[in-house]
Amino acid sequence: MKIKEKMTRKMSAAVTVERDSIETALDKRVRELRCLYDIASITGTTRLTLPQRFQEIVNLLPRAFQYPDCTCARITLHGDEFKTRNYRDTDRKISANITVQGAKTGTVEIGYTGTLPALKNGLFSKEERLLMDAVAERLGAITEHRHSEQRIKEERDKTRRYLDLAGVIFIAMDAKGCVTLINRKGCQVLGYEEKEIIGRDWFDNFIPERLRDSVKQISQKLLAGVEEGNELFENPVLTKNGEERVIAWHNTILRDDAGNIMGHFSSGEDITDQKQSQELFQTISHNSPLGIYILQDDKLQYTNPQLQKITGYSPQEMAGRDLLSLVSLEDRDVVKSNTVFTLREESPYPCEYRILNKNGQIKWVMQTVSPIHYLGREAILGNLMDITERKYLERKVIEYEVLNKMKSDLLAMVSHELRTPLATIKGYSTLILDYYSRLDSEETKDYLKSIDISTDRLAKLVDNLLDTSRMEAGLLKLEKSPVSMTQLIKGVATEASIRADQYHIVAKFSRRLPMVNVDAKRIRQVLDNLIDNAIKYSPPSTEITISADISAHELLVSVSDQGPGIPVEELTNIFDRMYRIEQRLYSGADGIGLGLYICQRLVESHGGRIWAENVPDRGSIFKFTLPLTSKIKRKKGRRGIAAELLNRKAR
Ligand code: ADP
Repeated sequence: MKIKEKMTRKMSAAVTVERDSIETALDKRVRELRCLYDIASITGTTRLTLPQRFQEIVNLLPRAFQYPDCTCARITLHGDEFKTRNYRDTDRKISANITVQGAKTGTVEIGYTGTLPALKNGLFSKEERLLMDAVAERLGAITEHRHSEQRIKEERDKTRRYLDLAGVIFIAMDAKGCVTLINRKGCQVLGYEEKEIIGRDWFDNFIPERLRDSVKQISQKLLAGVEEGNELFENPVLTKNGEERVIAWHNTILRDDAGNIMGHFSSGEDITDQKQSQELFQTISHNSPLGIYILQDDKLQYTNPQLQKITGYSPQEMAGRDLLSLVSLEDRDVVKSNTVFTLREESPYPCEYRILNKNGQIKWVMQTVSPIHYLGREAILGNLMDITERKYLERKVIEYEVLNKMKSDLLAMVSHELRTPLATIKGYSTLILDYYSRLDSEETKDYLKSIDISTDRLAKLVDNLLDTSRMEAGLLKLEKSPVSMTQLIKGVATEASIRADQYHIVAKFSRRLPMVNVDAKRIRQVLDNLIDNAIKYSPPSTEITISADISAHELLVSVSDQGPGIPVEELTNIFDRMYRIEQRLYSGADGIGLGLYICQRLVESHGGRIWAENVPDRGSIFKFTLPLTSKIKRKKGRRGIAAELLNRKAR
């Protein structure tokens, strides 16, 4: 029994020892595991820097060893040293290498500093050595991870700096439309600080209300993958002070590693100023009363609506055209030389020229040109003012001035021409009245004849003046009827012979003349005028011949005299209104230069022509034509003969 008791006691003592050693071993493992756990916790802490982490790790290492109170630790990494306060260099230590990407970058060491109880299995247990290796490996991993983190951070900072430096807006938003990133330019444009933007709904806060839905739709299409976002969108954003800025956006979809759409990234350019200047240019150019063009390489590159109005051509019709092709032929050289001169002198020198517009109308324009740069190359900017109206008025003013001068000339001439016969009439009538009883009948007859001639002269003058103003007012009406020109000419010649019996006035016909459809009174007036001129400008006793002939379509009448003739250079002028040949102005022949003018208007209104020919030393011939209509020619047989008979009877 005693033996059994002894045995039992022995066995229980052995069990106790065994249990103690197991507990000790377990305690060690727990400490080792705690050490590794703590290292892992420190590694996951973001609030610590890498040196701080190493310092914390080095401080907790002794606790994992058998005799923590006399254990010291040191980590050496990249020349940096992290050690426990009690660290001392000792022989009683173990160390393990820290490697990063296969290269030794440092060591971790554990050493004993005080007196230790006798150790059976050496200074450090196998587990402790393994722990050292595990710690060294962890430290290597921390360093490596930290380096990668550092690199990522550096890359991110670099990207951020780039984004901030860029002159464009960068903005990223998640699938809900909340801003996750915005660069400095974006903040500047919006007038907010970054923290005021990040996390806020982009559409609700930064897009003007009226456009919110449409802009959201674009974003939703992108997020739904309907559109890839290569297109450029323009939309205004709302700034902090309520102003709107127009941004041209380029959107890109953001996807995660699995390819799922996470949001979108947009780059935007603030084009407000560009838009404003564009709008300003459009407003000025579209509303300018000036025609504006840009000419490059001799081709029209731009034309504004006013120029299109002046020329009548659309922008498409004008694009690429040479400006000179619109300029009237006569003015092309002027325009060319003016442009060259102005560009060389660099001072706008206005040039007036004519444009032939699309409808074939002439438009007067006043142009200035200046050298410019357009699309990076030399060009010409031209401004045109439509001065057609002004030119018309200028012409009117000139005409008015001429008319005014003519009016005063006419007045001077008319008053002279009126006064002369009036003075004669007044003088002789007073003479007759005062000396009636003393005058013999011959004298009285002479005076009365002078009064009669002057009255005729006066009447003719007044008639001419009235006719002229009537013609110019367009009030002259012709009363045409079939007339026998033979009869008419003969009658005129006979009357002229009575009026001017000192002249031999003869009518000559080479053949029978057909009837003509004319206003007899007016054609008689033409003939009277021509015969009176012949009488007026030829010396007495000379012959004045009136002749008539027919050609294919017309009747040709001529009045020739044996007067001084008409200088060649004056042959056409004499038909102008109030034109008198200078040298004859003082010859004593009366007249105001309206006779031939009236003749011309009368003949032309009948569809005929009138002209003068000069026969040197033999006088002048005045000729006019009258058209022969087929209708009359056909009827001539009966009605012509009847009219002739009637005329003969009347005589
Ligand atoms: P007026 O006889 O009143 O001067 P007209 O119009 O009849 O005006 O004639 C214009 C001018 O033409 C005259 O001033 C005269 O110089 C010239 N002329 C006209 N007829 C003749 C003619 N038969 N012979 C020479 N000169 C003439």
